[in-house]
Amino acid sequence: MNTPLTTRHLFDYGTTYFRSQGIVSRQASGATRTTFGEIGDRVRRLASGLRALGVRQGDRVGTVMWNDQAHLESYFAIPCMGAVLHTINFRMTSEHLSHVINHAGDRVLIVDRSLWPQIAAIRETLKTVTAILLTGPAPGSDPDRTLDYETLIAESSPEFAFPDLDEDSPMGLCYTSATTGPPKGVLYSHRALYLHSMTLGLANTLGLSADDTLLPIVPMFHVNAWGLPFAAFWLGAKIVLPGPSPHPEDLLDLLQREKVTLAAGVPTVWLGLARELMKRPTPLNLRLAVSGGSAVPQSLIRLYEETLGIPFLHAYGMTETSPLVTVARLRPHHRELSYDEQLTIKASQGIPVPGLTFRLERDGQEVSWTGNDAGEICLKGPWIADGYYRDQGSSTPVRDGWFHTGDVATVTAEGYVHLLDRTTDLIKSGGEWISSVDLENALMAHPAVFEAAVVGVPHPVWDERPLAFVVLKDGCEVSKEELFASLAPRYARWQWPDDILFVPEVPKSSVGKFLKRALREQYRTYFTNPRE
Ligand code: ADP
Repeated sequence: MNTPLTTRHLFDYGTTYFRSQGIVSRQASGATRTTFGEIGDRVRRLASGLRALGVRQGDRVGTVMWNDQAHLESYFAIPCMGAVLHTINFRMTSEHLSHVINHAGDRVLIVDRSLWPQIAAIRETLKTVTAILLTGPAPGSDPDRTLDYETLIAESSPEFAFPDLDEDSPMGLCYTSATTGPPKGVLYSHRALYLHSMTLGLANTLGLSADDTLLPIVPMFHVNAWGLPFAAFWLGAKIVLPGPSPHPEDLLDLLQREKVTLAAGVPTVWLGLARELMKRPTPLNLRLAVSGGSAVPQSLIRLYEETLGIPFLHAYGMTETSPLVTVARLRPHHRELSYDEQLTIKASQGIPVPGLTFRLERDGQEVSWTGNDAGEICLKGPWIADGYYRDQGSSTPVRDGWFHTGDVATVTAEGYVHLLDRTTDLIKSGGEWISSVDLENALMAHPAVFEAAVVGVPHPVWDERPLAFVVLKDGCEVSKEELFASLAPRYARWQWPDDILFVPEVPKSSVGKFLKRALREQYRTYFTNPRE
């Protein structure tokens, strides 16, 4: 039968078969506990309330919220009523925030009170917003022309009839997090979300199921927390939401108290948590620490698996790909390899998940999978974007039917992807390519190094040369010479950075990725101008 693949099925299934499954939402004042069944009632009330505010099918509703219960309610109410859930990255600059809300044409905004200052600052620039709902602990009085989310829920009917929707209609909208340029909008269809959610449950990927307790540390505005809340609700996993500004101590408490089995975040989050775990060894139930969003250093995987005894899974994706593209799981025959050899596979981006077709391309030609030849990752599949939202077409990423990711990689004969760099981060030195990710990995393998970032900086002779930035672990010291010596066994002299600078921290993007654009800009003249 040709039944449409829509978000409503995920919601109906979760509220029918997992009514009593729990949702824990951390607040500044403690945690609230509820169930899928109770949420179901509130989701329908929210949909009734939004309809009363004038939200119709196809309208965009923006969320400026933490990972919490109200956000989860919006995740289902907005798409199930046929509107479009626009999750907004509140760590963007005011200029970008105003731009994405106007560009999306959001009709209603749902804003956490603790994030209100960001919206208050741009309120007068918003052209399409007709109502603002405030969530979170209520202070004495709210700003003018805003409504209280809880009052709306209490006063709205729980009898909302969700419409039958076309599976190709839009359910969500995310903007890229602007690591490399201005944010661009990506629209997700119900069909894309459905198939992507199903994929997260496959044993070959994350194997998410009703046996799990999920902690999405990745923000719900960052590619829908990688789609995990949708999949967890459908598949009946208990959901633990970390709430406002979770620090590593808060995360560790939640992991322990709620017996979390699967948590997901970017490498910097895992690094911070590892530091906390070393200070405060705590027995955990984690069956999988999932890391994505940027390359993961081998040293971090080793720390989790060998020292802390927690299995670590590396995944790769992007906003334009919903995001899941690849996961790095070992195959049975890899288990006969030494741990060091296994680590090379675990730190690769892995193989594409079922449903996607993959091609490596250079100058329009397919590149073979030799493990050495580099090319751009190109993809086809039901949850890959075919363009940007309300874009003039100038930057279309789809050519000849393939989505061009802008990521450069090599692929082993078995299909394991080793991402070298984004095209913008790849260092082009005298006609050769140097992978900044590889060098960072090697530097971070040194026991004194906490973080390392490498960027290409203009050079009068070689076009570009690598420049490294190193953050040392607390109380550790190491000289430049020692770090160069640690690169010597694996890298030819010309591949070494020309200089290593010790810095207190590496600048990070709003979702915790190294902000290499900022480093490149700041050190643009490092090799061209004589230094003082
Ligand atoms: P932005 O492009 O603004 O950072 P995204 O979150 O969509 O927003 O970033 C996707 C990009 O992040 C990918 O194209 C890739 O360059 C990088 N990335 C994501 N996951 C990984 C990973 N596991 N390893 C290396 N790079 C990654």
